[in-house]
Amino acid sequence: MGWVTDHAPHPDDLASCVQCGLCLPSCPTFRLTGLETASPRGRLTAMAAVAAGRPVDNRFAEIMGSCLQCRACEVVCPGFVPFGKAMEGARAEVAAQLPGLGRRIRWLVTVRMLRSRAVIRVATSLISLAQVLRLKKLTPRPFRGALTGVRPLAGRPDSVLATNWPAVGESRGVAALLAGCVMDQWFGDVHAATIGLLTRSGYEVIVPPAQTCCGALAAHDGWADAAREMAAANIAALEDADVVVVNAAGCSAHMKEYGHWAKDGARLAGKVMDVTEVVAAAIEEGRLPRLGETGQTVAVQDPCHLRHVQRVTGQPRAILAAAGFTALEIDPDGRCCGAAGIYSVLEPELSSQLGKAKAEQIRATRSKTVSSANPGCEIQLRSHLAESGMTARVAHPVELYWERLQERDPQPAGR
Ligand code: SF4
Ligand code: SF4
Repeated sequence: MGWVTDHAPHPDDLASCVQCGLCLPSCPTFRLTGLETASPRGRLTAMAAVAAGRPVDNRFAEIMGSCLQCRACEVVCPGFVPFGKAMEGARAEVAAQLPGLGRRIRWLVTVRMLRSRAVIRVATSLISLAQVLRLKKLTPRPFRGALTGVRPLAGRPDSVLATNWPAVGESRGVAALLAGCVMDQWFGDVHAATIGLLTRSGYEVIVPPAQTCCGALAAHDGWADAAREMAAANIAALEDADVVVVNAAGCSAHMKEYGHWAKDGARLAGKVMDVTEVVAAAIEEGRLPRLGETGQTVAVQDPCHLRHVQRVTGQPRAILAAAGFTALEIDPDGRCCGAAGIYSVLEPELSSQLGKAKAEQIRATRSKTVSSANPGCEIQLRSHLAESGMTARVAHPVELYWERLQERDPQPAGR
């Protein structure tokens, strides 16, 4: 039957694959399974077969569903195949052509829940209660790891939505902060560090209340129309700012591609910066200080959507160095940790193998602290470190820098 939606992979994108296979060694799922159908080339071949008239069936859905969307394949591809875009299109076709209860539940989570602050608040309270009462054993198995990996939620900081923060000293302009979906409820300390460092480096910070979830998880799971709506809502809410700062690497990567998701989206996309880019630039320009050596090490995990999609690798290391830490490399290939949005729930076996491997790489560094600039990776790392009997702390690099700055020069939280 072929494709049925206007989100389908573009024929030119599929034709740009020359089947050379150079991407295979970079693909985590191919390396784990050795299967051509779990490789970028195999997945593109399956898409081309549907474009030629084969039906979108359960086998096709499996081949697409096992992809992490880590985009390591794009980095090495000599044909510049836009694999991420093609995969999002293929998943939109699966969502449209293979409806069912499972997919309905996924839509409820990645679209309805993440767009509703009230639902996130209720879910957050339930998780917080489960953490306090130590109900891990009663939690359904696919969610147990996530429960261990989430930061303790009791006593978490308040939402930053609808707050404004004046610049310290001369203003460089207005920075709009993406509050995010779970970032705002689960990662308040990262928001406090972000706001503190932005204001200290000369930005007035606004957190417009009309913004919504960035839409990355919806796009990755095939809910392309919903992803378009979310992009449009955020463009309307954030477009007046001089810069849009995002402190979750998966979200900053997706928003830098808003040109694909919304009419006039390219203008806002051009203003989006990951927080590691903004803070590293402020340190480089002397607007934020370099702090004294701590004698401590930090193992650096590169989120795929920071490393492979945004090609941002030097900035987290520069921030850690300015905070006085010695950054330790854990993986020269930057292989995915297996978090990948809701992948750990949908593909627990592959996700767990990748999570365990990453925990072992961290163990080998002997570092007691790990930096990660993406919430999903942070949860996956903490969960697998705990499972491996390790007690390393996992934190965002700007949080580690902010804490050191606060030790030297205390400021009210968030300023
Ligand atoms: S490296 Fe690029 S062109 Fe070569 S097989 Fe992989 S996707 Fe196709
Ligand atoms: S996105 Fe990642 S998992 Fe998917 S085909 Fe590319 S390298 Fe493999």
